[in-house]
Amino acid sequence: MKRGMNCFLANQCSDWLMCCGVAAALLGYALRALGMAGAGHFAMTGYALLLGGWALGVRYVVCPHCGGSLSRFLRLPGDLPGRCPHCGERIEPPEE
Ligand SMILES: [Zn+2]
Repeated sequence: MKRGMNCFLANQCSDWLMCCGVAAALLGYALRALGMAGAGHFAMTGYALLLGGWALGVRYVVCPHCGGSLSRFLRLPGDLPGRCPHCGERIEPPEE
């Protein structure tokens, strides 16, 4: 079974984007507190990354067996359930 985007990879990308988004947003606020011009854009970019990562997680972090979403509304970073909540199949990392 070969898929371009598996749920583990999508989960990692999603987490990474969201982490960067949070970091950029916080940095934007910090820069704005220091009175730096363009800090608002920095924060907005952070939110865009955050939203993109979240959307990626919702769209691609799905069960490889039934296609059901594995992300809960508030998903912990890096947290994938051991079993699909929809069909009950085990979610296993792809073999190298
Ligand atoms: Zn499933």
